[in-house]
Amino acid sequence: MNQPLFLKGVMQEKIWGGNNLKKVFGYDIPSNHTGELWAISAHKNGPAVVENGPYKGKTLAELWDEHRELFGNQDGDVFPLLTKILDAEDNLSVQVHPDDAYGLEHEGELGKTECWYIIDAEEGAEIILGHHAQTKEAFERMVEQGNWDELLRSVPVKPGDFFYVPSGTIHAIGKGITILETQQSSDTTYRVYDYDRTDAKGNTRPLHIRQSIDVAMIPHQDAKLSQSTQTIEGAAIKTLVQNEFFTVQEWAVSGKAGLTAQGLYTLVSVLDGEGTLTVEDQSYTIKKGTHFILPNEIKFWTISGNLQIIASIPGENV
Ligand code: ZN
Repeated sequence: MNQPLFLKGVMQEKIWGGNNLKKVFGYDIPSNHTGELWAISAHKNGPAVVENGPYKGKTLAELWDEHRELFGNQDGDVFPLLTKILDAEDNLSVQVHPDDAYGLEHEGELGKTECWYIIDAEEGAEIILGHHAQTKEAFERMVEQGNWDELLRSVPVKPGDFFYVPSGTIHAIGKGITILETQQSSDTTYRVYDYDRTDAKGNTRPLHIRQSIDVAMIPHQDAKLSQSTQTIEGAAIKTLVQNEFFTVQEWAVSGKAGLTAQGLYTLVSVLDGEGTLTVEDQSYTIKKGTHFILPNEIKFWTISGNLQIIASIPGENV
């Protein structure tokens, strides 16, 4: 099929969510505690729906099951990637995700390696990325005693920053941050600490201390990123991360750029600006907040306008 698949995602309300998905992106949101848009998702907890063309009304999960040719006949039980936009009005829990082996054994789904592009951040906003414990024993002791200040490593962030969060990394998105996340398609989160906060009914959210200690990388090591930028006519293509699960790029388009497929298919999210996507002789308006997939048959396309885009390409090894 030589048409892009434009997608309507699924909003998820969260205790820590806000209204930036409406304020910044103009989406309809169910409440002022909307934490996540699952924009490009085939996950059962929030499958996106195709908005155009012959597959209009189908979910991405249905296309994965029934039209695998759109994805280059890639192997796998589930569509491997999930693109989200998160609005953290309050802190997310301190958490860790398992790798594939642990996730499949204990939860029946893949593990989660993720990465974050910071769209917006308030002055002074911070994330938690990693911890200071040198041994498992020290980690367990600090968790037991609630020594969070000593244990957790805070990192200041600003718009345009990028963070790679492999499975096993202790992490939390801090309040006042809006991000685009590319991750493995998984919904398994082990919560280490949730600031002792309660919902409207006075309930705390469950913690998963044993599993967290099982899967946490101890001591923490920052992942190495070898980033590079390629300049072509009309665009700068910056590779933010490349691993076995995904390659994530930032496309800064200004003018008219001819682009070529670099993998089986491409997930595309427009973070800013407005312009035109052209495939063969068909043109489509794209703008801030648009999400689409370029399926396997589309090998060349042009994008014109002034746009900031995040694109993800599945890894070979998923
Ligand atoms: Zn996470």
